[in-house]
Amino acid sequence: MKPWPRTLFLLIDGVGLGADDPVRNPLRLGLCPHFALALDRWAIPLDARMGIGGLPQSASGQTALLTGINTGQLLGRHVQGFPGPSLCAPIRRRNLLRRLSRRGFKVAFANAYAVEKAEEVRLRPHHSVTTVAALSVGAIRTLSDLRRNRAVYHDLTRKTLPRPFRPISPGRAATHLMAVAKRNDFTLFEYFLPDRVGHRGGPEDLRRVLTEFDVFFKSVLRFADGKRNLLILSSDHGHIEEGGGPSHSINPVPLLALGCGADFLKRHARCITDVAPAVLRLYGARRGRSL
Ligand SMILES: [Zn+2]
Repeated sequence: MKPWPRTLFLLIDGVGLGADDPVRNPLRLGLCPHFALALDRWAIPLDARMGIGGLPQSASGQTALLTGINTGQLLGRHVQGFPGPSLCAPIRRRNLLRRLSRRGFKVAFANAYAVEKAEEVRLRPHHSVTTVAALSVGAIRTLSDLRRNRAVYHDLTRKTLPRPFRPISPGRAATHLMAVAKRNDFTLFEYFLPDRVGHRGGPEDLRRVLTEFDVFFKSVLRFADGKRNLLILSSDHGHIEEGGGPSHSINPVPLLALGCGADFLKRHARCITDVAPAVLRLYGARRGRSL
């Protein structure tokens, strides 16, 4: 039997562990019962502050999760939005996709970009953390992949794509994602809508995002039943658990790990910089060899 896990890593933007109070915490409103129950049962808290003041932000938090670098200490601050040159260079070199790929493992970034050619993504003036990571291994999925159900759009349902794309259910998106994950040793999927609706959306947008995500999450949970499969979910910083207002929070973020290697991961992770090193240890030095 292969000694390394087959991992599906869900990077969810802007979801922290908040109060068990539906008045303060939208995650407790009953809109996402499966996700809320999973947080209660299996999540451990990860510190997202990285030892510095200010509100944790996406660029520094996602870099920390995917590389293990304490970006707060490196830059002396939390960095929002798109990473600048001082973050892009270490992301390219040290992100999980790149490091596992160099060890011979098959890696995938499952998000589809709304482009026909991957080169169009490279030419964009700004890249998100996950895009820098995906570009570092040439793992850009396009509308062509989406047409063949070999990718998932960022809204899960394709509702924001023009025709001829037709909306699909969040459960179907989960099926497509798991199919990608089964063909790879390590698959990353980013879902940033919780943070986005926290910043720009109204209460109805937040309700819709949480409801759709819950259907998706309930299906994706099945992935952890596979013999070698490891399902990981974590977030870059807290946000929507504090009422869905425009500000991030300093709350810890969840680390959900289920399946093969989950206990190891949870034993070795206390803050967002611990996840990537622990994942790398699970895979060993080279494909085909355990530690
Ligand atoms: Zn944000």
